[in-house]
Amino acid sequence: MGLKSKILIIGGTGYLGKRLVKASLEQGHETFVLQRSEIGVDIEKIQMLLSFKKQGARLVIGSFDDHRSLVEAVKQVDVVICAVSGVHIRSHQILLQLKLVDAIKEAGNIKRFLPSEFGTDPAKMGDAIEPGRVTFDDKMVVRKAIEDAGIPFTYVSANCFAGYMVGGLCQPGHILPSRESVVLFGDGNQKSIFVDEDDIAKYAIRTIDDPRTLNKTVYLRPPANILSQREVVELWEKLIGKQLKKSSLSEQEFLNIMKGQGYAEQVGLTHYYHVFYHGCLTNFEIGDDAEEASLLYPDIKYTKIDDYLKQYL
Ligand code: NDP
Repeated sequence: MGLKSKILIIGGTGYLGKRLVKASLEQGHETFVLQRSEIGVDIEKIQMLLSFKKQGARLVIGSFDDHRSLVEAVKQVDVVICAVSGVHIRSHQILLQLKLVDAIKEAGNIKRFLPSEFGTDPAKMGDAIEPGRVTFDDKMVVRKAIEDAGIPFTYVSANCFAGYMVGGLCQPGHILPSRESVVLFGDGNQKSIFVDEDDIAKYAIRTIDDPRTLNKTVYLRPPANILSQREVVELWEKLIGKQLKKSSLSEQEFLNIMKGQGYAEQVGLTHYYHVFYHGCLTNFEIGDDAEEASLLYPDIKYTKIDDYLKQYL
């Protein structure tokens, strides 16, 4: 086995980013984390970065507004993983990565780049509705820049983050499960895929030194976690020993409610719409030009959703 790649993680203080840092260190990679000059007096971020340093990561100071700093940061490693924000209710900075692509191109030494994807495969979302399609469109712009620059890549399609989706029994605006009632998307039977965020990070890190994932999309489809909303609810009902009161929202009712919301909320709701009414995560087969993570790495014992739900008891 060859030496493990050195990894630079950008967006390392984020919801997913901090898990990527942890997984990279745990899997024995020399791990560098971008410390953005703009952090200022954000004490939480500084403390998080210092805790990464304590665990063995190296902090590299740089900024998206300082091209040279990005080039210098990139030159120190073999692989770059970016996890900048891409959730409108928090922050959406996907196109900032174009600056990173320029830096990687100039540095010329990067053997793999994982851009900030980690969700629905944007290449499958050409027909997505407004306004949420912006997420997919922006991610496709970044993909095009990567491929035009000839940068080796892996795109990780992580499907639904469990924390956002399972916690609230797949209901927008909820991240804790009710013990009383739930609103189903239609009949609640469209299949989705839920992945524990720590598992997403573990799988992502495993791909980087794997020739099978070079210039490919890797889908995360842990078999036990391919579930409909109704099945997620049933797992919860089993745990609490009680049936929830169920009501249903038709597709048209959902779209009407969506139109009354603010822009950021509408973007998020668009994603729920495609996942839970149209099954956009599961309505295609993984072709020969892509890979599936749980098949590639069967040794990773992923968290099953019934176990995931136990934390809410
Ligand atoms: P966060 O909102 O947690 O942000 C991640 C990091 O981005 C921040 O910690 C910060 O890192 C950096 N950042 C934020 N704002 C700026 C800015 N203005 N300029 C430069 N850097 C900035 O991101 P998430 O972890 O929620 O999202 C990461 C990826 O995961 C995205 O691609 C998103 O679309 C995807 N995602 C998928 C979900 C799913 O269910 N499939 C759910 C949520 C996200 P630092 O300060 O350290 O530089």
